[in-house]
Amino acid sequence: MTSTRVTSVTSVASPREAHRPRGRRAARLAIGTLVAAATAVVALPAAPAQAAPAKVVYLTFDDGPSPRYTPQVLALLAQYGARATFFEIGQNVAAYPEVTRRVHDQGHSVQNHSWSHPDLRSLSKSSFDSQVSATDARIRERTGTTPSCLRPPYGAVNTAVRSGAARLGKTIQLWSVDPQDWARPGRAAIERRVLDRVTPGAVVLMHDGGGDRSQTVAALPAILRTLKSRGYTFALLPCR
Ligand SMILES: [Zn+2]
Repeated sequence: MTSTRVTSVTSVASPREAHRPRGRRAARLAIGTLVAAATAVVALPAAPAQAAPAKVVYLTFDDGPSPRYTPQVLALLAQYGARATFFEIGQNVAAYPEVTRRVHDQGHSVQNHSWSHPDLRSLSKSSFDSQVSATDARIRERTGTTPSCLRPPYGAVNTAVRSGAARLGKTIQLWSVDPQDWARPGRAAIERRVLDRVTPGAVVLMHDGGGDRSQTVAALPAILRTLKSRGYTFALLPCR
């Protein structure tokens, strides 16, 4: 989903980062077995023929802004020098515009997650357009920027959603790591699911709104600290 764009990030990888995985791949291939070759290919899923992807991770937070949880998320991101992309719901932006402004002012990206979180696949063309455009307008009021990315609620995408997004000039951005924090599985489970699954270029879905997000907030310090210690940097998704 983001592989093309993420590839462009590889130019910022240090030579050491860029070459280490290739060396590993070469070593495995030298063993000369089919199994070893398959393992090497699995180790480089994004672009086996090119340099390894940079150690970048894209943290994303959905369903906000929340006057209670979003400021806690912002404080933790600031503490670890991390940036993130927030897919906000238009009606929440309307209710808590100052929170959206703070997200933007602290260097994060505010993007479109629809007005009221419907399954966009079931909407008429005009309802689809108003879900997206009304949210755009509220975000633009608070940030001065019109979102270029749309994350359809539930990740529910079909041909109609794709063509609607294209009609409105939106890039659809989903995710690759989903710890299901919205279901409140516990702080430790959220930490483990994220940390076990993140690989370079991962897009991590978490939630700062839509309910009690105290477990997500509690999991964030270990997630940020551990990924940082593994050499990851936290980048914004390539949205305007
Ligand atoms: Zn959502």
